[in-house]
Parts: sequence; structure tokens; C-alpha cells
Amino acid sequence: MSYESNLLLKLVAINTSMDKRKNYFKIAGLIVREAKKAGLLAEKVVTQDGIPHVIITLPNAPKNGKKIIFLTHYDVVPAGEGWEFEPFNPFMMEDKVFGRGAADDKSNIVATIGAFKEALIERLQLKVNPVLIVAGGEETGESEEFFRKLEGDICVVLDVGCEALSIGASGVVRVSVNVKGKQAHSAYPFKGQNAIYGAAKIVSFVEEWGKELERNKLSRFSAPTHYDKLPARMNVTIIKGGIAENIIPEECEIIIDRRTIPEENVDDVAREIKTKIEQFAKEHGINADVCVKSCEDAWYTTDEEVVAKFKNILERITGKQMKLAVELGGTDGAFVIGKMPVIQYGTMREDNNIHGKNEFVYFEDLELIKKFVKEIISTPF
Ligand SMILES: [Zn+2]
Repeated sequence: MSYESNLLLKLVAINTSMDKRKNYFKIAGLIVREAKKAGLLAEKVVTQDGIPHVIITLPNAPKNGKKIIFLTHYDVVPAGEGWEFEPFNPFMMEDKVFGRGAADDKSNIVATIGAFKEALIERLQLKVNPVLIVAGGEETGESEEFFRKLEGDICVVLDVGCEALSIGASGVVRVSVNVKGKQAHSAYPFKGQNAIYGAAKIVSFVEEWGKELERNKLSRFSAPTHYDKLPARMNVTIIKGGIAENIIPEECEIIIDRRTIPEENVDDVAREIKTKIEQFAKEHGINADVCVKSCEDAWYTTDEEVVAKFKNILERITGKQMKLAVELGGTDGAFVIGKMPVIQYGTMREDNNIHGKNEFVYFEDLELIKKFVKEIISTPF
């Protein structure tokens, strides 16, 4: 059994579910011990909120070299129902390791420790000062402040897929629409006005608009998976209405989740949604109040020299052309992009069932990320 698969089995066997901060100190302790055993420097830091994180460095790193942060996390989302095996009793089969967290994100922790360890054994000439961050509280968003305080020259987020070189993430605008009707006994519908019917019309309108955006509003960047070019997307994600089986509802609320591409400005997008829905409501005699709840802009790394170097590294080790992509969802890169260029690449593939049941990772991808990290730390930036 390889060093990496053995260590991955140990990490996945510890249930680090985010909901109860389960075994956070146990796994942080284990990671520190394992890193030290591999000849690395490792320390546990506990942030004010009580979450332990592990910082791992190489003893022979040039201290004046560029500081490259590798970002990973040890916490996992809860297993959920319907697994075909025990989620925290990991095992190897054929070319995979199975278990909750096997891919997201324990595989990337292990690949990086493996890379650091080999760099020591092989006396690899280090050209940068690499720092592996193994965070807790990532899945809950609790570690945002910790990530925002990180200092360095380049951040490599090892918490995404390996289908493309990802250099950014989509933005998100959330809008609530409150439809007002008139409450009445449902046996006397002529006395009321059904807010759900008004909301339903707006839901259909949003559905069609979303389809059109997905077809026509495209970024110059690729999407990591599924789409060719990254499109804008829009969905109704929540609908709340009705208080009793025999009452015509007076109110119905829908929430719209709109994902933006880097070419869009979230304030413009929010304004457009508000204007168009208000217009639609007016035309259809619907009393609707449209309210923008939150806006987060898309972002991407603009340092072309850094991007080109990473593209080169990946094309060298994979032998394939690498497309530049922007993530469909969000990543922790959002918290560091204000300070340094962010590059995103990791072990996860579309079929790995991350956050789903029967999660697994391919050995091949562990090896790939190990190679990727070794190449980075021996490249001058
Ligand atoms: Zn993750």
C-alpha cells in the first residue's frame, strides 16, 4: 500500500463532520504527528472560535522564496443516508479509496503531505517557500476570517476538480419576491386573491429567463465541467406560501438565486432582476415586492504570468491542453483573492460524489496532485 493511500485511510476513518465539529482536535493532532513523522514542520493553531487548523512547512525551504499557500480542509459534510457501506470505515477497491471525505478534501491533504515528504527524501531543490494549510470549519463557512488573514504570494486552493485549471469563481445575487394577495376562505374564492397563483407566474417567468441566460449569457472563460463556456444561471430555490388547507393565501415568497459570470457586475444584475420582475408583475396584475438580499461578485486571477506558469506546469505533467476555467460555485479563493493570485486545482472529479453518498477518489488523481505540488515547489515564481 502506498504512503498516501495508507494515510488517507487513517484520515477518512476519523469522522470530522462539520455539524458538531466532530473530532476536530483528534484529526488535527494526527495530522501534526504524521507530518512530523515525515520530517516536516507542523503546528496546530486554534482560532478564537475554538477551531484547530494545521500549518505544515518544509524545514529546508528558502525563507526568502515566494510563499505559496496550499489550501485544504479536514472537516467534511455529514454522511447523510443511503450509503452502500459505512462512510467512516474507508476501504480501497481497484483504483479508488471510498469514504466520506476521501475526495473532499482529505485526498488533497494527503497528496500535499506526500509531495512535501518526497521533496525531502529526493532532496528536491526548493524554489519557493511552500505552506500547507489544513483548515477546519471550511464547509460551514466558519473559517472565513482565518482565510482572510492568510498572508502569502500565491494561493493554490486544493479543493476543486482536475478537469481544468480554475482561476476564479462565479458570483451570486439573491433576490426575494414577496407576492401579496388577499386572504379568504377557500370555499369563497371570489372573496380573495391567491398569492400563490401570482408567485407561480413569476416562477415560470424566472424559469424561462434562466434557460435563456444559460444559452446566451456566456463568459470568455470555460466552465470546469458540464458546460463549454461558463454561463450565467438563474433558479428559484425557495417558495413559501399558504397557512392552512382551507385558506386562500395572502402571501407567497420566492427566493431567486442568480449566478453571475466575471463579465457581469452584480449590482447591474440585481437591478435588472428587480426591474424585469416588477415590470412582469405589473403587466400581469400581480402585487409583488422585489428585494435584493445579497450580492457577491465573481472574481478571477488577473496575473497572467502566474496563470501561464501554472498552465505550463499542468500541461507538462498531464500531457494535455489545459483550459482556463471559472468555478460554477464558490470557493475559499474569494477570501484571499484581494491579497494574492489564486489558482485552483485538486483531486475531485464530477463522478466522485462529493457531498453525496458513496464518495470516493481515484488514486490516479492523488498521484496527479502530488506531482502538481512537487512541480510547483521546484519552479521559481
Ligand atoms: Zn471541500
